[in-house]
Amino acid sequence: MTKAYDDQNIFARILRGEIPNKTVAETEHTLAFHDIAPHTPNHILVIPKGAYVDFADFAAHATAEEITDFHRVAAKLCADWADGYRVISNSGTHGGQEVPHYHLHLLAGRPLGPMIQR
Ligand code: 5GP
Repeated sequence: MTKAYDDQNIFARILRGEIPNKTVAETEHTLAFHDIAPHTPNHILVIPKGAYVDFADFAAHATAEEITDFHRVAAKLCADWADGYRVISNSGTHGGQEVPHYHLHLLAGRPLGPMIQR
């Protein structure tokens, strides 16, 4: 079941222009910007402009145009990292999601180590 969207979350406020961000790409449906506390030399967040809580909400309810645009923006950024990258999306308590607006983390710029702690 999808949680209700909280329109006071940080990324909703960024989308409304209430909080500044360092934008790296923007389209009609998608915004990409630098993470405020980067885990890697390159750490970009990609968010849809629509109000979606997480991956499952976005994949189930976004339009085909939104979904295509979102992934094309993310892919174009990743394509610049010849040595590779990692794409992560957290959801809910077990996933460690802090901001309840769907986003991808694009991580690159150094070897990233094991995928996850066992
Ligand atoms: P999550 O844990 O929800 O997957 O990731 C949320 C990410 O948002 C974190 O990596 C955190 O550093 C980032 N973040 C939180 N607040 C802000 C903010 O105000 N601006 C930016 N650019 N990133 C933020």
